[in-house]
Order: sequence, then structure tokens, then C-alpha cells
Amino acid sequence: MDARYNTAYLWGDLMNQDAAVGSVLRIERASIHDGQGLRTVLFLKGCPLRCRWCSTPESQRPNPEKGYAIDRCTGCGTCVGSCPEGALSMTDNGLKVLTDFSKCNHCFICVSKCLFGAIKEYGSFMSVPEVVQEISKDEIFFFHSSGGVTISGGEPLSQPDFVSEVLRECRALGIHTAMETSLFAPFGSIKKILPWLNVLYVDIKHMDGKLHKQLAGADNSQILENIQKIDQSEYPVEIIVRIPMIPGANDSDANLSLVAEFCKSLKKLKEIELLPYHRLGTDTYKNLAMDYPLKDLVPPSQDRILERASFLSQQNPCFPVRVGGGFV
Ligand code: SF4
Ligand code: SF4
Repeated sequence: MDARYNTAYLWGDLMNQDAAVGSVLRIERASIHDGQGLRTVLFLKGCPLRCRWCSTPESQRPNPEKGYAIDRCTGCGTCVGSCPEGALSMTDNGLKVLTDFSKCNHCFICVSKCLFGAIKEYGSFMSVPEVVQEISKDEIFFFHSSGGVTISGGEPLSQPDFVSEVLRECRALGIHTAMETSLFAPFGSIKKILPWLNVLYVDIKHMDGKLHKQLAGADNSQILENIQKIDQSEYPVEIIVRIPMIPGANDSDANLSLVAEFCKSLKKLKEIELLPYHRLGTDTYKNLAMDYPLKDLVPPSQDRILERASFLSQQNPCFPVRVGGGFV
């Protein structure tokens, strides 16, 4: 467990909650990178993997949490006196603030006290009706763009009952549904969601189980098995395989060839997307006092991205290859 968190912040507390309440990171509207048309993207908190390139570290822990942007802090000290738990103190030089996470109960009072936006709340608990109401506000955009809702994370399958309920309600409203997932979860959790899903985006991070474990914290056997089970299931869900393209880690000829080979047998595969590595989450790592292992990695050039996409296409011309994430 992360030493910054007290025992009230374990996975179990979240998993025992009523399925009608979910741990939501944020809701983003009008996305054009997470499915067909304009998408409203519901980002959830909590992920059992730890991909070294993760660009949303604020989604990893299961519950809402506090972030601190040291660059924005003026050292005014207003937050320190507002904390009912005495968890905040000034640094020795009196310029910045320290949080004693063994005392912090994540009440977020300090967030509202900071006039400079230096303390931020990552996530909140929301009920199924609250979430569906937010999503359905965009129905007119869905209608005109053939868009819909995309559930993302974190890992949505960490909250399978909540996600199942949200998607069921959305489908009842005629809203197109998609989910971005690692599929690192028991198949029983996935089965709760499949009846309400139009499109499933799944990452294949590496075909070698040992390297997958080094890069993401767990091996890939359950993930690959789940893809095949979904492909053979009765549900008419479209599968889009995504490859996060991490220079030097998984962009070799050998690995891309193995992904292409694996995909050949998938009947429900619609396309493969390459998602080039970027560094957009760097500041968030700092805000959460988390280490970013790939902070010095240089993102791939446009030429390299196109060359890798072309190579992947040549491995099996039967499926389309796209570069995703808004890069090309
Ligand atoms: S979240 Fe609440 S308990 Fe934690 S530091 Fe802020 S005011 Fe104190
Ligand atoms: S209130 Fe905001 S700006 Fe003032 S010390 Fe606290 S975090 Fe820094």
C-alpha cells in the first residue's frame, strides 16, 4: 500500500460500496479521440495495473484524493489553519505546505480554502442517476455526431456493478456506449458489462508476459484470455485493439508482429490503433508526489509513428491500422 494513505483508504472500502455509487475522477465532454462521433468520457478512479507510461496517475488510486501544485502555492498559510485534523504544516522555510497523510482524512476542506488553486480534489463519489444525468445532457451532440458515452479510467472493471448500471441506463436512453479497459479483471466482471456495450477498446501493452509484468505490474495471460473469450461470446460488441507505442519498450518488429498475429483470429476486431507515447501527465505526478519512471523518455517522432503504423499494416492487411490520440 502507498505509505501516503491511511488504512481507511484501502481497495476494500471502495469495493464494498453500494454498486449505485462510483468513484469518479471526472467527466469530459466533446472528446473526439475516444470513439465514434463526439464522446462524453466518464473517467473512473482505481486501477490494479501500474503502467510505467501512465498519463493519468490521478486515476490509479481507488478513492478521491488531494493533489498539491507546489508551483501555485504562495505560502499564504490559509489552508494550514483550516485543516480540522492538523494534517497541514508549513515547510521549515515557511514557503510551502506539507501534508501528513497519516492524519489526512480527505475531507477536502483545504481545497476550498486555497484561493490560488494550489490544492485540487481528484475525484468524487457519484451515484448512477447523477452520472447518467450528466451524460444525457449531451444527447443532442450524440444525436448529431453519432457519438455517445465512453467509460474510461483508471480501470472501469474495478467497479463492474457501477459501470454495468450506468451503461444499462445509457442504452435505455439510446446512447451509444464504449469502454476503454485493460481487461485485467475476472471474466465474471466483464460479463456484467458486455450486454450494454457497443465498442470495447482494449490495450495490448506487450505480448511477452514477463516484459508485460515489468512494464505494467502484471503479466498478460488474463488479458489475452479475456479478449478471446469476448471474441467468442454471444455479445455483438466491436473490439478495437490499442497498442500504447512506448519507444524502446514495445515498438519492435517482433512485438508488433506478435500483436498482429494474435489479432488475426479475432472475428470482432474492427481495427488496431497505435497510441504514441506522450508526457502530458508529468505535472500531475508532481502534484501527487508520485515518481514518474519515464519522465526522461522522448516521445516518438511523427515519421517513426507512421513507419510503425505502416509496418503493422503490412503484417496483416485485413484489418485497418489507425494512429490514435490525436497525433495524426
Ligand atoms: S483534506 Fe481535510 S484532513 Fe486532509 S489536509 Fe485537507 S483539510 Fe486536512
Ligand atoms: S492556501 Fe493555497 S496558496 Fe496558501 S499555503 Fe495553502 S496551498 Fe499554499
